[in-house]
Amino acid sequence: MTDQPHLERVLGPLLGPDEPELGCDECFAELDRYVELEVTRADADAAVPGLRAHLEGCPACREEHESLLALVAGDRPL
Ligand SMILES: [Zn+2]
Repeated sequence: MTDQPHLERVLGPLLGPDEPELGCDECFAELDRYVELEVTRADADAAVPGLRAHLEGCPACREEHESLLALVAGDRPL
């Protein structure tokens, strides 16, 4: 949408106060932590607000999330 990701990051919180919008960079940065929380049944969405919404709107990150989840869950049987 814009080639100024920094500007978007600054404006993002102002534009969407209720639904913080993560970019792919933030998503990838938090994905490990998010999945860790998910598999321990912690409140991952509260810990990383906006990530779930990003996954729903971003097929690339959703795919990454699914493979990471499979990896972590397989690592540590529930
Ligand atoms: Zn993404």
